[in-house]
Amino acid sequence: MTIHRDDLRVILDGPATIMGIRRSLAAGRWPVEKLRAHQESRLRWLLNHAYQNVPLYRALYDEVGFRPEHFRTLADLNRVPMLTKTRVRSAATAECLARGTDPSRCYEIRTSGSTGSPLRILLSRHDDRWQRVTAWRILFEHGYRLTDRTLQIDSTPARQFAVQRLGVARKQWLSTGDSPETWMAALQQYRPHVLVATASVLHLLAENLLSKGIIAHSPRLVVSDDESLTPATRALVSRVLGRDPVDVYGLCEVSNFAWQCEQRDGHHVSADSHVVEVLASPGEAGPIVVTALGMTGMPFIRYETGDVAVAEDSPCKCGRTLPRLRHLYGRAVDSVVLPSGRRLLWPFFYHFFNRYPGLRRWRVLQDEPGRLGVEVVGMEGETNALANALREALPEPMAVTVVCVGEITLRPREKVRMVVSRVGGSIAGAS
Ligand SMILES: [Zn+2]
Repeated sequence: MTIHRDDLRVILDGPATIMGIRRSLAAGRWPVEKLRAHQESRLRWLLNHAYQNVPLYRALYDEVGFRPEHFRTLADLNRVPMLTKTRVRSAATAECLARGTDPSRCYEIRTSGSTGSPLRILLSRHDDRWQRVTAWRILFEHGYRLTDRTLQIDSTPARQFAVQRLGVARKQWLSTGDSPETWMAALQQYRPHVLVATASVLHLLAENLLSKGIIAHSPRLVVSDDESLTPATRALVSRVLGRDPVDVYGLCEVSNFAWQCEQRDGHHVSADSHVVEVLASPGEAGPIVVTALGMTGMPFIRYETGDVAVAEDSPCKCGRTLPRLRHLYGRAVDSVVLPSGRRLLWPFFYHFFNRYPGLRRWRVLQDEPGRLGVEVVGMEGETNALANALREALPEPMAVTVVCVGEITLRPREKVRMVVSRVGGSIAGAS
């Protein structure tokens, strides 16, 4: 077996990785004051580091006269300028990297670019290990064991390391572009303990298993990531794979940072590794802004995610002290734009269409402001009544047309997005 540089890193970093995961698991039950003090001291260090060593932050902060010493406690967080995706995209890679970070020794990842052109992210050895700890920690919260076999189906090929070929954290990777038959065969033959896939893949996989009458192998843990897990997909996957999926949320820039615990009641935030803000009044939906506390080579501080959530204040029954997001609406694009410019998020449509048991499938499309097109499967002859009911339920007046179609099918690489808008609008003030 050939040992590559990356293999050696993983072996050498193994003990630190395991220590990091253990520390994170313990932090999930720290007193709230301790978590807060930890975040504040990490932030003070990170802001100073970024301002001194990363040209992007030096320029961003100088533009508005912000200095790292202006941040003392979390109450000062809103004084720290936000970092937009546009800003990162327009900056040269060298401007985003901390002094002393050698790009040739970094691991490169690219964002999927589903809502714009892809971003190029360079992970230093330290940041790469930190991302591994933060992602793995979520699996360990759900009883993951290093001897488990994982089947991962997503768009970015998983790296395979020598230690995995030796039986530690074994993983088989398939692409979202592979056929559902390929996924089904892997599930049945590889018999994974853990299945990690995008919500669309889980949906399509379960749908295919069901239609072919196959009794599916049931993994001990099913994880849905990368997209909003809709109630319909959760119900289908639970029924066919025999496991209620754990929804995990993150961005490849900063790793995964919000996840469901065994209560499946909102999403816990990994507050020991990330500072997550919802920019809205209590109980209101607002844009999610995230800071990766442990990324030092290419830092992300108050980074706009483009996603929307509602913060939850009450403690979780599981006993973890980590804060929660009550509703995680995922991409702001899973919403339509109302005439006032506010966004109406996808749960509104789920609640509305759930009232019609005769409706087998539906999809809301918005191509222009003030107008919605709805495709439905089922309810022939009742489209006018459905259009009228939707028009009345909408919080603002809009033109609505409903058409019956034979089938709405998902093809590989297509996401389960039942609300698709091509109209721009502000996510601030999302309802
Ligand atoms: Zn919990």
